[in-house]
Amino acid sequence: MEAGASRAASIGVFAPAVDPPPGGPHPGRWFLFRDAELLVQEPRRAAAAVPRLAGPADLGVPLHAPPLYLGTLDGDPCWAARLIDGDATPPPGMACHGLRELHGRLPEAEWAVAGRAVQLLAWDRDHRFCGRCATPTDPLPGERAKRCPTCGLTAFPRISPAVIVLIERDDAILLARGHQFAAGRFGLVAGFVEAGESLEDAVRREIAEEVGIEIAAPRYFGSQPWPFPHGIMVGFTAAHAAGEIRIQESELAEAAWFRLADLPRVPPRLSIARRLIDAWAAARGATIGQP
Ligand SMILES: [Zn+2]
Repeated sequence: MEAGASRAASIGVFAPAVDPPPGGPHPGRWFLFRDAELLVQEPRRAAAAVPRLAGPADLGVPLHAPPLYLGTLDGDPCWAARLIDGDATPPPGMACHGLRELHGRLPEAEWAVAGRAVQLLAWDRDHRFCGRCATPTDPLPGERAKRCPTCGLTAFPRISPAVIVLIERDDAILLARGHQFAAGRFGLVAGFVEAGESLEDAVRREIAEEVGIEIAAPRYFGSQPWPFPHGIMVGFTAAHAAGEIRIQESELAEAAWFRLADLPRVPPRLSIARRLIDAWAAARGATIGQP
């Protein structure tokens, strides 16, 4: 199939919706997951595409539960469902891959819908029963929500915000390495927002905890949905105000100030961490030649 390349060039307008259009199931793009892996067509080694089907019966693959309708991508109905057999062998010409691996191989718009799909499927699976009284929940018509018919508790998809921050000091930025990072790879300070905190509070607390410094007021940069499993990364920049690096050894293996000329390996282009670092480099007229 040639569609992968041409679709990469499409506009990729996604219109979310909860209730499918009337008139029965419509053919569309099917985001079918085997655990956290997405079933894709692989017409060529580098490119992949989400299959366009009348329905999963086209592939002869059984589903765990009724599919979720997601909305339309460039007018195509999009559906998400989980495959029953975790060991299922993909049909010929298809394969199952994790979303990280598919970034850059799927058209960007399909990758974003796949991130939405995997989060909604996890929510659908994890909220079949009321968390308060254990009654089976019902879908709430017209909303992405489940309601308990006994006590009325309503559950919406969970989103867990995390902050990530690029800290500047003179002509250097602070990069840190977690214990689990690949050797030589550095990233930015990041962490989950706690109950009762503003995003700015979370930025200050994470920086104080992890690297022991104080910063000037953080400035919002941008955000990125992070479906691993239901995060959103909120990016900030901030200037160093006081203190020297003192790492929290339970979290970090290493942290230091790096100038443009001696940057170590930084996160891949998939991440908002990289967008923050690229924007900092671009402001100095430089580009970072790492993938
Ligand atoms: Zn209940």
